Order: sequence, then C-alpha cells, then structure tokens
Amino acid sequence: MTQHPDSYYAASANLDLHYPALEQDLDVDVCIVGAGITGASAALSLAEKGYKVVVLEANKVGWGASGRSGGQMIFGYACEQEKLTRLMGHSASQSLWQTSLAAMNLMRSRIKQHHIECDLVEGHVHAAMKPRHMKELADWQRSLKNDFGYSSLRMWDHTQLRQQLASDAYIGGLYDSNSGHVHPLNYTLGLVRAAELAGATFYEHSAVTRIEQGATPIAFTDRARVRCRHLLLCGNAYLSGVAPDIERKLMPVGTYITATEPLGAERAQDLIRNNMAVADINFVLDYFRLSSDHRLLFGGRVSYSGREPRHLASLMGQRLRHIFPQLQDVAQQYTWGGYVGITMNRAPHFGRLNGNVYFAQGFSGHGIALTGMAGFLMAETIAGSAERFDLFCKIPHHDFPGGRLLRTPALMLAMTWYRLRDWL
Ligand SMILES: Cc1cc2nc3c(=O)[nH]c(=O)nc-3n(C[C@H](O)[C@H](O)[C@H](O)COP(=O)(O)OP(=O)(O)OC[C@H]3O[C@@H](n4cnc5c(N)ncnc54)[C@H](O)[C@@H]3O)c2cc1C
Repeated sequence: MTQHPDSYYAASANLDLHYPALEQDLDVDVCIVGAGITGASAALSLAEKGYKVVVLEANKVGWGASGRSGGQMIFGYACEQEKLTRLMGHSASQSLWQTSLAAMNLMRSRIKQHHIECDLVEGHVHAAMKPRHMKELADWQRSLKNDFGYSSLRMWDHTQLRQQLASDAYIGGLYDSNSGHVHPLNYTLGLVRAAELAGATFYEHSAVTRIEQGATPIAFTDRARVRCRHLLLCGNAYLSGVAPDIERKLMPVGTYITATEPLGAERAQDLIRNNMAVADINFVLDYFRLSSDHRLLFGGRVSYSGREPRHLASLMGQRLRHIFPQLQDVAQQYTWGGYVGITMNRAPHFGRLNGNVYFAQGFSGHGIALTGMAGFLMAETIAGSAERFDLFCKIPHHDFPGGRLLRTPALMLAMTWYRLRDWL
C-alpha cells in the first residue's frame, strides 16, 4: 500500500493516521475527492457546519503536494496582484488580495484552535540577486502599499539582509513579517485530525476512478460508490482522468527539495539568524528555510516532463552549496519532490460543474495558505454564501494549447524562455 514518500516530513510526522479503504456504498451530504490541505480544510469546515462528509483519498492523507511542500506561507498569488487587476479590475483584485491575507489568518487561527503542532515561524524574505530584482521588489512594495494598503513589507539593502542571511548570493530583499513557514505535512495531518474530530469520515487507498454528474453526483472507486448532494474535487495536480474539462487547464510540474543532516542550533542560526523563510524571485526559483531540528530545507529545480531529473540529490546539493559554500562538509539526508499544478496565467482555478460539483486547483506553487481558504470557501458556498468563491470562479482561464499530449512541449518552450530571462 502507498505510504508517504520518503522525506524529512514523513520522518518527522507527529501523527500516525490510518484510515480504511472504502468497501461499501454510501449516501452522504458531501463527498470530497483528495485529502490534501484543500480537501481536509473543506471537510473540517463542512463537518463543523453539521454536514455528513466523506473524504476519499487515493493514497494516504497528506500524500500529495500538501505533505511535501517548502512550507512557505506567503501573501498574495503566484500570478501577482497586477495580473489579477488586469484580468478582473481593481475592485475585484482588492477583494482577492484581502482573501489572500484572510487565508494566512485562517491558517494561523486553525493551528491555534486545533492545537496543530506544525512549527509555525513568522517572517519571510523575497531575495534579490541582481539590481533589476531590487527595482522589481521596490515597485512591488510600493504598489502593495498604495493600491492595497499592505504595510508590513520592508526593503532591506545588502547589509540588512546579510545580517540575517549568511549568503553572498543576494544583494538585498523584501522582508514580510506577516508571512512565514510551517511543517506542511504536520499542518495537513493536523487539519485531517481536526476534521475527523468534527465528524468527517476519511478513507485512504480509495482512488476515485470516475464521477457521474447529476442531481445527486456519484463518485466511484474500484470497490464502491458514494452518492452525495455536493461533490468536491480536491485532487489538484494529482487528479488524473476524473474530470478532463478542468484537467486541461492544469499542468503538473515537478519541483524538488533536499534536506541536510541536522546542523546543530548554532550553525543553523548562523545561516538564517532570524529563522525566516527565503525565496528568490527568479521564475524558476530557489526557496529555503530551517527546520525545527536545525536542518536546511532547500527547494528548487523543476521538471516539466513528469520525470525526476537524473542525479537529483547531487544537482540539488550543487545549488545549495552555490548559495551556502560554507556547507561543503554537510551531508544531505533526504531529497524528494512532488507536483505543483500550474495554470496558464498562474492564477488559481476555482469553479463549479453542473452546479453541485466544485473544484479548486491551480495554486501554481503558491498554495499552502490559499488551499486552506479554498476548502473553507467551498464549504461557505455550500452553506449558502457563494460570493467569495464565485469571485475566484470569474478569473478567466485557458486550456494548455495542444491538449494533453502537447501541453508538456508547449510549456517547456515557454519555461525555457523564462529561464533564459532569469539568466540574463
Ligand atoms: C515540492 C513542493 C514544494 C512546494 N512549496 C510550496 C511552498 O513553499 N509554499 C506554497 O505556498 N506552496 C508550495 N507548494 C504548493 C502547495 O504544496 C500546493 O499548492 C498545495 O499543497 C496543494 O494542496 P491540495 O490539497 O490542493 O493538493 P494535494 O496536496 O496535492 O492533494 C491532492 C490529494 O488528492 C489525492 N487524489 C488525487 N486524485 C484522486 C482521486 N482520483 N481519488 C482520490 N484521491 C485523489 C492525491 O492523492 C492527493 O493526496 C509546493 C509544492 C511542492 C510539490
């Protein structure tokens, strides 16, 4: 049976949750496909509202991107606010901005309310590698302050950043005291446990192979079916073949993380003095942070082909040591990866099929807080208040050109261009 992929997170999970496979037909209010943060969050909100909820997970709860991510909790959206303003107008863009901040607050309040032990740390910096980046960051800070009233961002010059971050790869950064980082698998498992305590029922090793839409949609596994009033598709990049109409708008892209051996408290603190999370602003970016047991978790690289790059650990190690040459003697203990689901415009893709089948996907690598909000908004919509979810549904999206077969080469071409731009 599938287990969590071998990773630092799996090795340090603090809940050992196991659920049976679905063996008998059920009739419920809401059936949720996928137990990542999106599915677990929806289950929690719906169970709290008194709905009879079943979650069907193909593998283990938290097995997907939610249990593997960099854990960086950051304001806004992968596509940036400017694009949302262009696509939706200023007023809608402002509402979406507020929802992104509410997503981080929802995450914090749930961690507190449900006593989820997931090492939440406040503080994040977007780091600049070249003067062009510094200008982009300064423009970003100005626009978020003037147009959206966001005032927790601080520009740091080289000296200010260097005081906190022991790397000469950067020339400055944009620091946000309101963003931060968590242990993503422990956060996800904590949500699952909270949803279960609120009354939701989880099944693992229960892949949904097809769905039937209608007045009472049905989700089928190999062994049984669940009939419901509302069906939620929360499989994101891993939902393959269940709903082709929405899957055409999504491209699964592999991204990877390596974890060093524990460095010891002092050496770790010498690397990132204030324990913030760090991401550069290249299109194919490096992102890293410390774990609570003083490892460096370093993320980066991408694969558009769906295949893991050859010699992955060694490639990740080279990049890590390029940023931190002082770690030449340090061993890498875990290297793993997962799929992010990206959309053509990198804005999230939410919507409804046939009125009672809801989906939320396409967080484009920027999902740790937003997924919790996505699940919350689906529950809010089912309970009768659709305004916030429906605003997301209005964001226009296009299929990847060429359909399933051609979307990989098309994306690879586009990404090669973006990479070239990063290098230049
Ligand atoms: C390596 C990596 C690093 C990342 N770093 C960050 C970061 O630092 N910050 C950030 O904000 N975001 C990050 N992300 C993105 C973030 O992790 C995702 O946006 C988020 O976790 C998506 O959550 P989800 O619940 O929608 O999907 P997932 O967590 O992928 O969960 C989907 C679940 O659905 C299940 N499923 C799929 N199909 C079916 C089916 N047919 N039947 C039953 N179950 C099914 C899968 O098994 C899976 O468990 C990262 C992602 C990766 C892979």
